Amino acid sequence: MSMFYHPEKYNIPDRPMENFIDEEEIWSILEENKDPSKEEVKAVIDRSLGKHRLSLRETAILLNANDPELIEEIKNAARQLKENVYGKRIVLFAPLYIGNYCTNDCSYCGFRVTNKKQERCTLSKEEIVEQVTALEDNGHKRLILVYGEHPLYDANFIADSVRTVYSVKHKNGEIRRVNINAAPLDIEGFKTVKAAGIGTYQIFQETYHRPTYLKVHKAGSKRNYDWRITGLDRAQEAKIDDVGIGALFGLFDWRFEVMGLLRHVNHFEAVYNVGPHTISFPRIQPASGFDIDAKYDVNDDDFTKLVAILRLAVPYTGMILTAREPAHIRDEVLQFGVSQIDGGTNIELKGYTDNKDEQNLNHEQFEISDNRTLNEVIEELVSGDYIPSFCTACYRLGRTGEHFMEFSVPGFIKRYCQPNAMLTLAEYLEDYAPPATKERGYNLIQKNLDEFEDKELKQSVEKRLERIKKGERDIYY
Ligand code: SAM
Ligand code: SF4
Repeated sequence: MSMFYHPEKYNIPDRPMENFIDEEEIWSILEENKDPSKEEVKAVIDRSLGKHRLSLRETAILLNANDPELIEEIKNAARQLKENVYGKRIVLFAPLYIGNYCTNDCSYCGFRVTNKKQERCTLSKEEIVEQVTALEDNGHKRLILVYGEHPLYDANFIADSVRTVYSVKHKNGEIRRVNINAAPLDIEGFKTVKAAGIGTYQIFQETYHRPTYLKVHKAGSKRNYDWRITGLDRAQEAKIDDVGIGALFGLFDWRFEVMGLLRHVNHFEAVYNVGPHTISFPRIQPASGFDIDAKYDVNDDDFTKLVAILRLAVPYTGMILTAREPAHIRDEVLQFGVSQIDGGTNIELKGYTDNKDEQNLNHEQFEISDNRTLNEVIEELVSGDYIPSFCTACYRLGRTGEHFMEFSVPGFIKRYCQPNAMLTLAEYLEDYAPPATKERGYNLIQKNLDEFEDKELKQSVEKRLERIKKGERDIYY
């Protein structure tokens, strides 16, 4: 793990399951690195291109670079890092909302307990089966299950719903990886959920700034900042290897939040010797019952800049972009090395089977800006030369921390990720794509095969593609 930037000493020492965020420290690092020179910015960029995770100080230098020319250099460096390190594939997933009962009162969320307009429901086992069947019929293989925070949704409930999802096999469809976005559990709870075979457990801190955190989380157990910020430590104590962090941009100063995310990353490295599996950076969207001041809204320029900085600061971590962002933002930040996006997303409870003509704000958590179908997302990726992927091979073979391996194991992407992306895309093209997408998809696969330098691998992939065309499924490296 030589690329970790050791040793770093911070005001609050890193101990398992203890808070590590020192607000004053973050402000002072930001303040001390104001108005960086061109040379300073370039030196930081070079460190990142040398595949080093950046320190808080180095990240502050990038965050404080305001000259348009320097911002362009930061973005170009993020593009270059993506080109050098990551392949052309983008992993696709869909969220599935299991229940919207919630005892918390988060000022930004439609599910908050005080929002009386919200119609509450929890999917029954049969309803989960129906939703998963519809998702499989669209071609999905990876889901993230989302839950409100409520005694109904304890660890056993979450584990049961995960098992139900895995049990649904419709035609050639199956869900091969289930991730979770739910409340922080205790260690026993995380063990229970792990035993159901989850992939990643995501918990977003929302804001790393404690006073803001207390302001927007008005009631319920989520008000406990320390319990939340130590949540993924407990997940790791329970041997969940893949954890996902995130901040909800729009609650507080975005520079502070990027520093918070980075401090969270180096906390994991210090305590568990492994960084987070993924980082998410949702921007706040209007919701029913929404009560957030627009003061900290992040505009498009700052947002694309912050994604580029995150890529450079944590070069080995998967980055998740959601359907919350409009097409022009997705186009730009995909170039900075986003590794996963959702497609064909519906965040209404039972939304994958209900009539989708109208968005019903009383059923969902917030509004989304991308209502395209999975096939439309795939078409867009293919036309941009990205290979849409449904690969779940690492997780299935026990290769946890796959983003880290992609980054650190030479040739890993060419040997595993790219072929697996092609194979899972071929499955999609055979089973779910309309004829025009099928043609374009196979053209892309062929183009990529032609670029293979390793002829043996090329032959091996061609053979497997033939097997898929003949009806075999779930073949991977
Ligand atoms: N209830 C659990 C929790 O709060 O962690 C998990 C599910 S919650 C529905 C998932 C995430 O949705 C939250 O962590 C938050 O970042 C995000 N979210 C909530 N309201 C949002 C909004 N108005 N716009 C964008 N994202 C939002
Ligand atoms: Fe509940 Fe989560 Fe929404 Fe907060 S963000 S109100 S905890 S569902």
